[in-house]
Amino acid sequence: MSELLLELKDISVSYDEIQVIWDANLNIKRGECVSLIGVNGSGKTTLLKTIAGVVHPFEGEIWFKGTIRIDKLSAHQIAALGIIYVPEGRRIFTKMTVKENLLVGNHLKKSKRKEMLQRVYELFPVLKERENQMAGTLSGGEQQMLAIARGLMADPEILLLDEISLGLSPIVVEQLYEKIKEINEQGVSILVVDEIPLRCLQVSHRGYIIRSGRIVFEGDSSDLLNNKDLRKIYLGTD
Ligand code: ATP
Repeated sequence: MSELLLELKDISVSYDEIQVIWDANLNIKRGECVSLIGVNGSGKTTLLKTIAGVVHPFEGEIWFKGTIRIDKLSAHQIAALGIIYVPEGRRIFTKMTVKENLLVGNHLKKSKRKEMLQRVYELFPVLKERENQMAGTLSGGEQQMLAIARGLMADPEILLLDEISLGLSPIVVEQLYEKIKEINEQGVSILVVDEIPLRCLQVSHRGYIIRSGRIVFEGDSSDLLNNKDLRKIYLGTD
């Protein structure tokens, strides 16, 4: 069995004493792509932020590679371990060039700068073509590619991708998911959060469904995609 890279054990999170996550258990094995699916406000972003150290759980534990407990570490320390969070809404630096944005993403792995730049340009040739262009002038899809590429510049072991399809056309979303598949095939483990369950599940090995802060289903993506009953109960599709 492949190595357990990340393990959330009974994680509970609150904002100002209002609990939003209850006893979440989730894991990612090396090389896996895992989906976290849920409607607006179900707690997807909070769970990603908890893994990334942006918010901290009041109960439970998070382990990296089975031996490093990370739930009390800072976001910076967690990034330095190779767990990289690509937030919802892209958050690129619009007044900086594409290349400058990428180099910001590389500040933890400067020794690998040339190699990482070459890797992201191979993956996203459009970013190479536009490397000297202000990031704010890119299309929405290109900005999302830049946000993912900036995350990759840190040479991550795990990439946490939040709502990559937000506000983008179906064709662009399709292209992005093709890239996610490619990144995963290159060996990066991925946790991807989306409201579009079908596309998300098609590129992932396993999926979790979260409802009102509770994980209500965990299973193989193929089960969720192919089992009519599961689809109806958890995805609301026939
Ligand atoms: P969305 O798709 O809309 O981002 P989500 O599934 O990612 O939804 P979260 O953003 O994690 O859900 O929100 C979970 C719950 O926590 C919601 O009820 C939300 O209102 C609340 N919440 C999120 N961020 C904060 C915050 N900073 N302070 C207080 N409550 C928050």
